[in-house]
Amino acid sequence: MKQERLSVDVAIVGAGPAGLSAARAAAKSGATVAIVDDNPRAGGQIWRQAATAAPTSAAAERLAILRQPNVTHLAATRIVAETQPGTLLLEDDERGLLLDYRTLILCCGARELLLPFPGWTLPGVTGAGGLQALIKYGLDVRGQRTVIAGSGPLLLASAATARQAGARVSHVLEQAAWGDVAGFGAGLWRWPSKLAQAAKLVTAVYRPDAHVVEAFGDKRLERVRIRHGDREFDVDCDRLACGFGLVPNTVLPSHLGCRIENGAVAVDAHQRTSRDGHFAAGECTGVGGSELAMVEGEIAGYAATGQTAPLAALVARRAHWQAFADSVRERFAIREPIRRLARPDTLLCRCEDVRFDTVAREPGWTAAKLQSRCGMGACQGRVCGAAAQALFGWTPPVPRTPLVPARVGTLMLDGAASCDGA
Ligand SMILES: Cc1cc2nc3c(=O)[nH]c(=O)nc-3n(C[C@H](O)[C@H](O)[C@H](O)COP(=O)(O)OP(=O)(O)OC[C@H]3O[C@@H](n4cnc5c(N)ncnc54)[C@H](O)[C@@H]3O)c2cc1C
Repeated sequence: MKQERLSVDVAIVGAGPAGLSAARAAAKSGATVAIVDDNPRAGGQIWRQAATAAPTSAAAERLAILRQPNVTHLAATRIVAETQPGTLLLEDDERGLLLDYRTLILCCGARELLLPFPGWTLPGVTGAGGLQALIKYGLDVRGQRTVIAGSGPLLLASAATARQAGARVSHVLEQAAWGDVAGFGAGLWRWPSKLAQAAKLVTAVYRPDAHVVEAFGDKRLERVRIRHGDREFDVDCDRLACGFGLVPNTVLPSHLGCRIENGAVAVDAHQRTSRDGHFAAGECTGVGGSELAMVEGEIAGYAATGQTAPLAALVARRAHWQAFADSVRERFAIREPIRRLARPDTLLCRCEDVRFDTVAREPGWTAAKLQSRCGMGACQGRVCGAAAQALFGWTPPVPRTPLVPARVGTLMLDGAASCDGA
């Protein structure tokens, strides 16, 4: 196994809109930059396909940074641990690697929030963004009867992707109330590009004040029960894509000692976290869309390299997109009936088959893990931990190293042998 050491001025975690924008800004100073991403393709959740398909101009401009001589892209690379201040231990399929940096910018993005309801683990049920991602990676949905449900603007984007791929989308169900959705739509004139996007995506099968109560099927999904206002009815379908918005990825930032507030990395006006020399940008600091992620990334990249001239204008631009993010958060907040969908025997942790009532009786996440093994399976709590946080208000403990399963050879590198167990 090859082992290496790389030293850069600025290390960036995440090659999505925030990370690429941060790299572009930082590289202008002549600083050496390394971008680490655990995915083989750059672009993050929204532009990952752009690396191979026809990219939008915003994506193309930012992906071009990866060809700059002072920028190194470490793709398909996982972060295992911080071995000492300013050094991260990394691993890819071939080697362990120590990455030394002077400044770190965390652009770890967000993931979809899945909440349990009876039948949510049946084959054929995915997240809303999850279905989109599967289609982008080649899943054939042609002719399949599809219901999209959950909350937030991502539902319309997911429905559009499914329709373009040939799925028959019969219902798009938004849990937020009519009044909130109408209020959100009425305020979109402040962000004309978002208004145009919404006008393009909206569909006649979109229904606010509606959600899936239960999914049924023998070996895989066959039917869903829908509640729309006071009415309940069943719909036959082959696919259900159900997601309740996004939650910030805070595992690495919280391990590095950055303060987490309201489930996101806390930052100041220049995207500085509570830890010296550590910045954060994009959806790990709060969910807000790619436009907000890009401007935050730019601020972080300039601030991290001492380029102060562009900052004032960028801070004003960030306020414009932050207002959009605030509007999404307020109008699409999860309502009470969604929190009550799981029955005592509904699985909360699908990796370890742990029931909702087993977890619910514990006082917190750590006790629930120790007593039931929930969160200890393949997804390491990424799904059930976020659900438990949303349903019970639990604060997850600071994650310990190794942050991901790693080879012994990697753990032996430098001071990493002091990793303190899973
Ligand atoms: C499933 C899904 C589908 C979406 N679909 C749409 C859509 O259709 N339209 C739309 O406008 N918006 C969509 N969004 C939202 C959009 O992706 C975000 O607004 C935008 O990508 C945020 O950019 P970011 O750079 O903050 O994060 P991301 O784009 O999420 O990029 C973060 C990157 O960091 C990497 N990463 C995270 N942690 C680590 C780590 N510890 N080590 C190494 N790498 C790490 C991730 O693999 C990822 O590539 C979607 C989001 C999700 C989660």
